[in-house]
Parts: sequence; C-alpha cells; structure tokens
Amino acid sequence: MKCEKCMAVIALDSKFCPNCGEKVQMFTEGINGNEISIEWLIDLFKKLAFEIELNSNGNSFLAKHKESYDFDVNLNKSLKVITIGSHLSMKQKNISDMNKLQDAVAKANSLSCLGIFSLSDNNKLLNIVTHINLTELIIERDIVVYLDIFEKSIKHIMDNLGIMKI
Ligand SMILES: [Zn+2]
Repeated sequence: MKCEKCMAVIALDSKFCPNCGEKVQMFTEGINGNEISIEWLIDLFKKLAFEIELNSNGNSFLAKHKESYDFDVNLNKSLKVITIGSHLSMKQKNISDMNKLQDAVAKANSLSCLGIFSLSDNNKLLNIVTHINLTELIIERDIVVYLDIFEKSIKHIMDNLGIMKI
C-alpha cells in the first residue's frame, strides 16, 4: 500500500511510514469476533479493490480481482470461523510442481499469524483454503496482511507453474 502523505510504497504491516514518519491509518478498524458480519468483510474486500458477488445464502461471497486470484469468502458464525479459499486448475500436474506448491504453502504458513493455508487437490482442481478463527478482536490489517502473504508466497509460484483461476 501507499503512504497517504508522501505516497511512498510501504509494507502492509507498517504502523508508521518509514519514509516520512506518518502514522498509517488504513486498515486499522477492528471488530469483536462475535460481532463480525458479512457486510464488514465485504467492505474490507471492496477497500482492497475486489469486486463482490454475494451468494444467495448471504453468508459468503466471491471476491474477484483483476490482478489476483479470486477468493471465496465464507463466514460461519456458529463455528466462529472465516474461510477464504482459492479454487484453481493446473494444466499438467507433476510431483515436482506439486512439491514446489507445498513448499510455498508451508512458507506462507510460517509467515501467517492469523490463518493456516491448506492445499488439497482433486484431479485437476487445486484448493487453497484458510480457516481464520474468530478470536476476540479481528483487525482489518490482519486480513490484509494475510492476503499479502498469499500474494507474495503462493501466487508467484502458481503463476510460474501455469496454475489458472477457474
Ligand atoms: Zn510517508
């Protein structure tokens, strides 16, 4: 993201701009896990420039982004969990590529303090899914950083391996 004062590009987890010292105000809103709503999640993904397609059940939506993979976002209030999933297809699957992807997922998990990424495959379909437990306080930035980890750790590997969104 960019500093609102000097427009320097700064890390998503910055609290202050390393260039001008401005306090970072974006994505600082927090919400109690018990009070989280699908609307809160939709607002957050919209701020991140995703297009939203709400599913008819009202508890989940598809978040689409021109420059990224799509995410299925689901809020299960009774289980107190948010799941964020990407469903992908791989042209030709081989052990070496799958190992690279497993390594990328493991690396992402070592960086994430919020949710754990898991990889499953079903013929040509790959699913990368994360469960985020609704703890007492969820800060927007936690989810933003989480998506950033996906972007940095997993997406470029998927791009290299010719994995496409479906
Ligand atoms: Zn700045």
